Amino acid sequence: MKHYDVIIVGAGPAGIFAALELVKANKDIKILLIEKGRDIEARICPSSAQGIPCITCPECGLLCGWGGAGAFSDGKLTLSKETGGNLSRYVDEAALEGLIKYTDEIYVKYGAPAEVFGGDMEKVESLKKLADENSMTLVPSRIRHIGTDRCPALLKSIKADLNSKIDIAFSEDVRTILTGDGKAAGIETGGKETISGKFVIVAPGREGALWLERQAKTMGLSLLKNPVDIGVRVELPASVLEPLTKITYEPKLIFYSKKFNDRVRTFCVNPYGEIVKECVKGVWIVNGHSYSNKKTGNTNFALLVSTHFTEPFDEPHLYGRYVARLANLLGKGVIVQRLGDLLAGRRSTRTRIARGKVKPTLPDAAPGDLSFVLPHRYITNILEMLKAMDKIAPGVYSKHTLLYGVEVKFYSRQLKLNSSLETEIENLFAIGDGAGVSRGLIQASASGIIAAREILRRIAVS
Ligand SMILES: Cc1cc2nc3c(=O)[nH]c(=O)nc-3n(C[C@H](O)[C@H](O)[C@H](O)COP(=O)(O)OP(=O)(O)OC[C@H]3O[C@@H](n4cnc5c(N)ncnc54)[C@H](O)[C@@H]3O)c2cc1C
Repeated sequence: MKHYDVIIVGAGPAGIFAALELVKANKDIKILLIEKGRDIEARICPSSAQGIPCITCPECGLLCGWGGAGAFSDGKLTLSKETGGNLSRYVDEAALEGLIKYTDEIYVKYGAPAEVFGGDMEKVESLKKLADENSMTLVPSRIRHIGTDRCPALLKSIKADLNSKIDIAFSEDVRTILTGDGKAAGIETGGKETISGKFVIVAPGREGALWLERQAKTMGLSLLKNPVDIGVRVELPASVLEPLTKITYEPKLIFYSKKFNDRVRTFCVNPYGEIVKECVKGVWIVNGHSYSNKKTGNTNFALLVSTHFTEPFDEPHLYGRYVARLANLLGKGVIVQRLGDLLAGRRSTRTRIARGKVKPTLPDAAPGDLSFVLPHRYITNILEMLKAMDKIAPGVYSKHTLLYGVEVKFYSRQLKLNSSLETEIENLFAIGDGAGVSRGLIQASASGIIAAREILRRIAVS
């Protein structure tokens, strides 16, 4: 039987950064990084490559493989304690600030650009005040933008560094986490190979969150409840949002709706970007990208409503998928509607969209009526927030603004973890998005560093 000191499950940012930190210590530690997807060059999405409908590959080429979900992401590094994850629950403020800086420096070392957006605090403060005056909270955050086109090269250079120092196994699906005497003991793969390990770090991302949840239940670990975020992606002329995006690349605004007191927020703002659709386990949802070397005349962002369910319902994933499926059913994919048509209570048509001022960057979205898809509560919350945003960026609430549906953000069930991100089982660590610890590249990567440092500490004293 093979034996490793540390086994890392999942080669997304969380797993990769755990490996980088372990290797950096230059100790004689045997490390296995095991990933069910493929190496970065071999990651292919047949749907994107051939322009065909999603064929639901067993290991999705967009989400699985070297770099995880982050590989073809927009690569916006959010240098913030407040957004992109829950690490502030585990690490104190000063330590988290230092950790984010440290993580960011590693990204820069491997090719992230030097420029950081959102640094002019005087302008940010005046924007914050304006948001406050209009019932919104602006969460200031500094952003380093790698760009979808630069992410793969960055990941390749990290891999080149790790290649000779650790074992990396691709196309290996970990089925079972093994324990013994209340401690981590190793893993079993889909090919029924048992590999023993003194420390196991699980970093399966959202892709493997359900698998981790099932494993956690089998091992008797405590799980906390989580919400689902549902909403639309908004597209408008880039000039409309420039008063915000020129000051802070990613204006993160939070609003509590008057009617329902629901939390609505902007998410993933893409100045001069384009709308994309993605297939998550057979369901088409909408998303956005921006490139470092290619600009459109539009800016897009998501408006998401956080939904916490009450008993007896406990399947937020299913609810989110159900709403997205409804859009797929009516629009054979993603639906687009002009705000003016939604307010007039009529569907959008190709002619109405063509007459509008905003040219859709996702041409195959079907013009339709989002009020048949999103429950009244969501539509009300979204309209209220658009109206509030119009006060600080006039033109947001224009009849020409395009709304694409549905955007859904699923969150993983959070495991009960200590401040080193160790589970209730000794030497078993759970990190990244899959453990409900993070929701973005920086905090996912930082979570890997936290677990690795604790393992190094234990190895040093043993
Ligand atoms: C389209 C898109 C755009 C995004 N844009 C941004 C952005 O601009 N900025 C930002 O901060 N964040 C962004 N994100 C989010 C970001 O990508 C994630 O937060 C981050 O990748 C999470 O890292 P992770 O390592 O926890 O998980 P992942 O990146 O999901 O990696 C987990 C890996 O584990 C593997 N795995 C799962 N289960 C198993 C198993 N049982 N056995 C073996 N391997 C397994 C998976 O195949 C996967 O490769 C984006 C996400 C998407 C999908």
